[in-house]
Amino acid sequence: MKYIVIFGPPGSGKGTQSDKIIEKYGYAHISTGDVLRVEISENTELGQKANEFIKNGQLVPDDLIVDMLASTLDKTESSTGVIFDGFPRTTPQAEALQVMLKARGGDVSVMLSLEVEREELIQRLLKRGETSGRADDNLETIEKRIAVYNEQTAPVIKFYEKEGSYAPINGIGTIDEIFSRIVEALD
Ligand code: AMP
Repeated sequence: MKYIVIFGPPGSGKGTQSDKIIEKYGYAHISTGDVLRVEISENTELGQKANEFIKNGQLVPDDLIVDMLASTLDKTESSTGVIFDGFPRTTPQAEALQVMLKARGGDVSVMLSLEVEREELIQRLLKRGETSGRADDNLETIEKRIAVYNEQTAPVIKFYEKEGSYAPINGIGTIDEIFSRIVEALD
């Protein structure tokens, strides 16, 4: 079983590239953002708690996310691999993921880190906001999310650098150009 992390700031293309990876390799997809949006739409206790953080561009606390991820992973069926999208977003989440995968006899084999500069991220997210219906795709929240990424999420790179699985990917170009860089890193 292959476990892959797709990583990068908001708007770097994690969701778009995850779809292409799934299509080519048949992996199961776990997006913590998607799982949280379902919880919110179903108005669960977790959804209500998470919504307060998401609306403000903040991260949902680690304990809530790690529990949610564990139960999602338990429900996920795949014979080939799993791609984690938008998780881990903090170093404690990366440590928790390592423990969970070890218990399954696995480990993250590659952490694909999409690199895109700030101005491009803002432009992409504003554009997405025109159609996404997402409450967090507005300029104020986008700027907050990028700041939170730089402060709390970027340090996760160091964790995977130490593990030897960090693979930086140039995230500028067409969707297919970026995907071919990913395929090179995966194969
Ligand atoms: P995303 O769809 O990945 O952009 O996530 C949308 C929002 O959900 C983020 O801005 C966070 O508020 C929250 N979120 C998603 N994944 C995580 C995570 N792994 N840790 C903490 N918060 C998360």
